[in-house]
Amino acid sequence: MRIGGLQKTTLIDYPSEIACVVFLAGCNFRCPFCFSKELVLEDIDLFEISFEEFFLFLEKRKGQLDACVICGGEPTLNKDLADFCRRIKSYGLKIKLDTNGSNPEVIQDLVEKKLIDYVAMDVKAPFSKYKKAIAVDFNINRIKNSIEIIKNSGLDYEFRTTVVPTIHTLSDIKEIAKQIAPAKKFFIQNFRNDKEPLDINFKKVIPFSIVELEEIVEEIKPYFEICYLR
Ligand code: SF4
Repeated sequence: MRIGGLQKTTLIDYPSEIACVVFLAGCNFRCPFCFSKELVLEDIDLFEISFEEFFLFLEKRKGQLDACVICGGEPTLNKDLADFCRRIKSYGLKIKLDTNGSNPEVIQDLVEKKLIDYVAMDVKAPFSKYKKAIAVDFNINRIKNSIEIIKNSGLDYEFRTTVVPTIHTLSDIKEIAKQIAPAKKFFIQNFRNDKEPLDINFKKVIPFSIVELEEIVEEIKPYFEICYLR
């Protein structure tokens, strides 16, 4: 496991909690619109931090943070993730796991061991179009399993989709909603072309308009307790 970055404070990444965000390097997907290029390709020499530094930071911030968000890359690729969570929890922090849902067994294990408190899973596309969104071959049943595990986990959770013209159509968004419904929370995130994506060609892609996405959100809202464009 390599820590590729640390955001020391966030008020928006863990609902209603003051959190830090730790970024773990490495990912098994290659979403062309991804903005975490250095983490995904593990080109992180410039900003990698050691475990000692990270846990020293948690020690110093004791009492000031409520939670830690573990994201990537894809955190569940790390065999020592459960131990990492256990150590973070020893500082009295809640944990939110951000995942692409590719490792249902790891999610299940963390749920059973009560090592996570909140899960946010990216649902990349309608199941039939997943390869186009993640740019690798992948067994879609693993994604379906993760969705079910998360929905039945008893934890607070959210699903979210970054919508990208050339990968998604507007009707794909409705299709994704139907595939995960009913569920607690589903958030639509509009693609942005203001940073350098994994596939540089995506810098030229023009995002959907807010108006057309808001219209879709109105249509799919009834499937969820909470659903909005963010
Ligand atoms: S957007 Fe895709 S490639 Fe980037 S970290 Fe997430 S799953 Fe990996």
